Amino acid sequence: MTVHIHPSVDDGVKKGSGSFAGGTLVCKCKDKPVKIGIKGDVAHNHACGCTQCWKPNGATFSVVAVVPRENVTILENGDKLHIVDASKTIQRHACKVCGTHMFGRIENKTHPFYGLDFVHPELFTESGSAAPGFAAFVSSVIESGVDPGAMSGIRSRLKELGLEPYDCLSPPLMDAIATHVAKSQKAA
Ligand SMILES: [Zn+2]
Ligand SMILES: [Zn+2]
Repeated sequence: MTVHIHPSVDDGVKKGSGSFAGGTLVCKCKDKPVKIGIKGDVAHNHACGCTQCWKPNGATFSVVAVVPRENVTILENGDKLHIVDASKTIQRHACKVCGTHMFGRIENKTHPFYGLDFVHPELFTESGSAAPGFAAFVSSVIESGVDPGAMSGIRSRLKELGLEPYDCLSPPLMDAIATHVAKSQKAA
């Protein structure tokens, strides 16, 4: 049985060029697509199994990365954007017509990831952005309807692709969150 993770990695993870200068994210609309300009490369690119991230049709995981929010500019058809759920920590700005999430923004200034926007690098018209390096929230794909019995196959496929599977975020990101919490507790 073939295990599908995400169309951009199913044939192998494509390495980034290491010198990606940025590009344009484009939604799936044929008419008047939303275009978002991104300055510079993405960071912490990963496959994500959570139920909140946008995924293309048929994908089990999303592929999502971060960029500094000041590097994100709405270039065209921004009137088609809306916030999917304003009550969520990450406010996902999506195209109202095709549903594609264009960028996710955290407005809570005390959040460890404040200042970073979440983007889906597969929407770049340019190639060469940093490749995904791990898989986060792997067990959560069960919440999206994946048979729990398929999990060992999914985890081995992720490892084969070089995307180490974690059931939360990767250890460096979990450490970054805990460091932020420890610092804010000291400050209080
Ligand atoms: Zn669209
Ligand atoms: Zn996610």
